[in-house]
Amino acid sequence: MSQFTAKAPARANIIGEHTDYATNQGHVLPTPLPFHTTVSVREMAGTAGRLTILSENYGNQPHERDISDEPRHHWTDYLVGCARVMSRNAKLPALELKIKSDVPIGSGISSSAALCVATVRALNGLTAAHLDDERIALMAHEAEHDYVGVPCGKMDQFVASLGRPGQALLLNTKTMTYRHYPLSMNTAVMLVNCGKKHDLANGSGYKQRVAECTEARRLLGVTTLCELGHKDLGRLSTLPDLIRRRARHVITENLRVLEFVTALEEGDMERQADLIAASHASQRDDFEVSIPEIDALVESSKRYGIRAARLVGGGFGGSIIALVPRDQAVAWWSFIAKENPDSQLISTYALKNSENEYAA
Ligand code: ADP
Ligand code: MG
Repeated sequence: MSQFTAKAPARANIIGEHTDYATNQGHVLPTPLPFHTTVSVREMAGTAGRLTILSENYGNQPHERDISDEPRHHWTDYLVGCARVMSRNAKLPALELKIKSDVPIGSGISSSAALCVATVRALNGLTAAHLDDERIALMAHEAEHDYVGVPCGKMDQFVASLGRPGQALLLNTKTMTYRHYPLSMNTAVMLVNCGKKHDLANGSGYKQRVAECTEARRLLGVTTLCELGHKDLGRLSTLPDLIRRRARHVITENLRVLEFVTALEEGDMERQADLIAASHASQRDDFEVSIPEIDALVESSKRYGIRAARLVGGGFGGSIIALVPRDQAVAWWSFIAKENPDSQLISTYALKNSENEYAA
């Protein structure tokens, strides 16, 4: 035991938005992105449980923490949380943790899960704890959810830990079972930020949506909304209008994820585009989490000729994801940028070859 380095990727969710709340427990379909956070842990002389933490993304200055600390609402909490969770498996010595990352922070591609998964992985290696990737995902989630206090589902940690480049991870958030599906070699996954940060409304909007899903579940008398399918949609007519629309988004979005993997398997690009477009309309009209700047990006994409574009992430700001034929990716982005001068390209990737390497 002396030193260990590990990394984990950022992610984008291709389809399946707001389906993973505890009230809903549906499917999601994220994929890893070619941005990574690397964490190096090194055993130090000193009291067991002391942590010296440095991040190149935050000035590379050493921060002294202890595994027994309460959270301080500081970025080092993520590392303390991971170390604390890991200390249940192995007694941790004094440690130095060094972070570097090319993941854009707070851009909705989950720098936090990349950080936590890389940290748990590094501690797993250092302590030879032999945790498998699922366990690593669950521990990274526990650190972020229980210690840092972020009300997040487990999708981000699962895809950061188990995702494969160029493949989508179909995750059932009820059973936590998953399957990998190869993405098309000819598709570039484009992410464009609308230039408007998630504002305070994001937090309260999210809480409100959770409450609305809870109400829908109660009125429908079900355990989870995603246990309902196409044949149950008629039952929604008894609900008040707003609750009906919230439930309809969750149920249809879950069905769209399942249809999307069939379309992936069949190489049916038209169907994939229809489903992504329908996902956006449902988020905009039924779940009401879009904003005009995001709708404008989606409309621009349509004017260019790409229907497969939608709001990605929690909403009330943030980014769109679009699936664009790779030979049109550059032209698509210059068209979008011209019509939406405040937008920024976050990520563009396509596969280089069948060995799951990313193109530069
Ligand atoms: P997202 O996960 O979408 O990027 P979050 O708000 O969930 O946004 O997580 C961002 C937070 O995670 C940062 O504010 C910081 O506390 C922590 N974080 C992420 N990456 C790093 C890093 N490389 N170094 C230090 N802290 C990081
Ligand atoms: Mg996050």
